[in-house]
Amino acid sequence: MSLTETLASHVRANSGRPANASTPMEVWQGLSAAVVDRIADNWHATEQAYAKGRMEHYFSAEFLMGRALLNNLSNLGMVDEAREALAAAGQDLSVVLEQEPDAALGNGGLGRLAACFLDSCATLDLPVAGYGILYRYGLFKQLFEGGFQTEHPDPWMEEGYPFVIRREELQRVVRYADLVVRAIPYDLPVTGYGTDNVNTLRLWKAEPMEEFDYDAFNSQRFTDAIVDRERTMDISRVLYPNDTTFEGKVLRVRQQYFFCSASLQSIIDTYVAEHGNDLTGFATYNAIQLNDTHPVLAIPELMRLLMDEHGLGWEEAWKVVTKTFAYTNHTVLAEALETWEMTIFDRLFPRIAEIVREIDRRFRIDMAERGLDQGRIEYMAPVSGNRVRMAWIACYASYSINGVAALHTEIIKRETLGEWHEIWPERFNNKTNGVTPRRWLKQCNPRLAALLDEVTGSDAWVTDLSVLSQFTDCADDAVLDRLSQIKHANKVDFAAWVLQREGVEIDPDAIFDVQIKRLHEYKRQLLNALYVLDLYFRIKENPALDVPKRVFIFGAKAAPGYIRAKGIIKLINTIADLVNGDEDVADRIKVVFIHNYNVSPAEHIIPAADVSEQISTAGKEASGTSNMKFMMNGALTLGTLDGANVEILDAVGPDNAYIFGATEDELPELRQNYDPRWHYENVPGLRRVLDALTDGTLDDNGSGWFHDLRWSLLEAGYEPADVYYVLGDFAAYREAKDRMAADHADSRAWARRAWVNITKSGRFSSDRTIGDYAREVWRLQATPIH
Ligand SMILES: *Cc1c(COP(=O)(O)O)cnc(C)c1O
Repeated sequence: MSLTETLASHVRANSGRPANASTPMEVWQGLSAAVVDRIADNWHATEQAYAKGRMEHYFSAEFLMGRALLNNLSNLGMVDEAREALAAAGQDLSVVLEQEPDAALGNGGLGRLAACFLDSCATLDLPVAGYGILYRYGLFKQLFEGGFQTEHPDPWMEEGYPFVIRREELQRVVRYADLVVRAIPYDLPVTGYGTDNVNTLRLWKAEPMEEFDYDAFNSQRFTDAIVDRERTMDISRVLYPNDTTFEGKVLRVRQQYFFCSASLQSIIDTYVAEHGNDLTGFATYNAIQLNDTHPVLAIPELMRLLMDEHGLGWEEAWKVVTKTFAYTNHTVLAEALETWEMTIFDRLFPRIAEIVREIDRRFRIDMAERGLDQGRIEYMAPVSGNRVRMAWIACYASYSINGVAALHTEIIKRETLGEWHEIWPERFNNKTNGVTPRRWLKQCNPRLAALLDEVTGSDAWVTDLSVLSQFTDCADDAVLDRLSQIKHANKVDFAAWVLQREGVEIDPDAIFDVQIKRLHEYKRQLLNALYVLDLYFRIKENPALDVPKRVFIFGAKAAPGYIRAKGIIKLINTIADLVNGDEDVADRIKVVFIHNYNVSPAEHIIPAADVSEQISTAGKEASGTSNMKFMMNGALTLGTLDGANVEILDAVGPDNAYIFGATEDELPELRQNYDPRWHYENVPGLRRVLDALTDGTLDDNGSGWFHDLRWSLLEAGYEPADVYYVLGDFAAYREAKDRMAADHADSRAWARRAWVNITKSGRFSSDRTIGDYAREVWRLQATPIH
């Protein structure tokens, strides 16, 4: 059947009307259902083929998937067909695509990485499945009210979401001491580019054992019946909007155990069906990647399942477990390494608590036999001071431990996980992150994709981005001018999008300077904001100042409890009001804060960017991935030597990136004598911008937040002032950013640098990352179904 026919029938079934009389949302539903219809047979065949061999299971509390329909159409080569089928029904594809809600089941980089990895695994025909939680509410929706962030629930699949299929018959039971729940798998198909394989993302939803406790209800205990039901539904209700520190402790631990236990039960059942009841061979057929420590409860839970339900002894079970798990560390920030009170474990799952204590007991004996002193053992122990340390359990039980960029891996080997590296250096390896060039180039930047097809003579780059490096030197002036025109056209589109979405008019001829990422002090949006304010004052002071036209674009959500981060959002919005409302500067600089930053906005913003702001305090950003998305789309990096910026610089060379500021190895010494007040008093302009925070120039509406920001930089009492070295790097940042803006005037030279960035971005494709994992960590073979 043609897509026109299946589309028409799916839309009719969904809306009860012919397609030409249906709403764009109903058409989105119908077209999405038609896509699932198209892939169903291959999806089933893929599942069957994978069950027989070795599989990798990617456990992650977050999958920041974004929209699915265009991604699937593009992977399946159905975009033109879909456009025609819709046209036949009087509907417009681009309007229909904009109906789709973002599946925002993640906070930021870590969750988006999981999503890019799934795309690459499917594209490479690798037998990999993802496992997580079907949160009813994804990351909160962000609005600005008077410049302040407000948070609102995001019920992303309330209106129906054709790409998740409830697998009622595959449900599992997850037991807590105080609660027994059903885990219902909802499977999402993960298509790959140009392949018939369809992989699976399995997300678990918690439901009560009985839909309703009629006994309680009938015996007049109405609220008991409802309370228990709600306690169960709580487990998969909401993603925690905090990607560094942790709260809502008991519920979060419940969530983690929930998806780990359900996923392991499902994996074991598949193993038993194929290989029988002897679980000693489990690790021959299964490996599990732990995306950060959120799924580390899978380690004691697999011990429990192997021992209590499959008859293995401790030693046998431990042998299996230590051949199964691999752990990815995502942060050097000590406060982000999860620890839980043992009492939470005792209360929720005494058997898991017992197993964790036994792991701890054996660990201590093991380490004493290796000759470690008592202090060192106590520091590394899985349980200490009545707290369970998830990262330490991961390090002890995993056969592989990896960081996510070369610099980050060196830091965790030396510091964060240094004690572990001393004992097991062979477990440590680096896997620099990557992003999928399907979503982050081909789909979001079709003009650039067409140019690459043309210049390279094929679309081979879509699945092998490294081929582009053969074309770095063959861009003649005609190609470079085309590249400039493409960027300009993208900026025109983006300006229209911004006007419609934010009500701000921006000039496509200005330099678009972009910083989009979670709001965190270490990412230093504040440094950028201080620059903008300083530039504003410089122009006010000297109206004749020759500065290129610029638009400063921000996008960021702050964790709801992270007041200082929310203060920075309020500050940027207040600076935007000041700058955009001032006739003297309004035709030269503009500030736009895109609200509700998420995957879909990123797809609009990145192709239009000239400058990619990657300005974290050196040593703090594990990798970064937006830096890679920008590079692929021809934006030049303005950044510190941090995370993957180091490798971007290595790929493009110093002439094609703007690197500034203190380096990670310089900072310890710089900090020793660091006096932010000296910079305040001696760096021209700094006093003016810092005083503007509190002298009435900028109004924080009585929140006191701007005073706090200034205080945190200059005189924080209980901690060293300016721990993220904002003032220390200010002068170098301003110099690099001014120079960069001036360089933009030579559009040919700029386009050449952009071209180098695009063509050298191959090593930042998640296909490269996943190829490395598959070979070096997972020992996994491609398994194409056809
Ligand atoms: C890529 C991405 C991130 C990660 O951005 P960084 O700048 O690397 O922190 C966060 N959120 C979204 C929506 C993304 O697409």
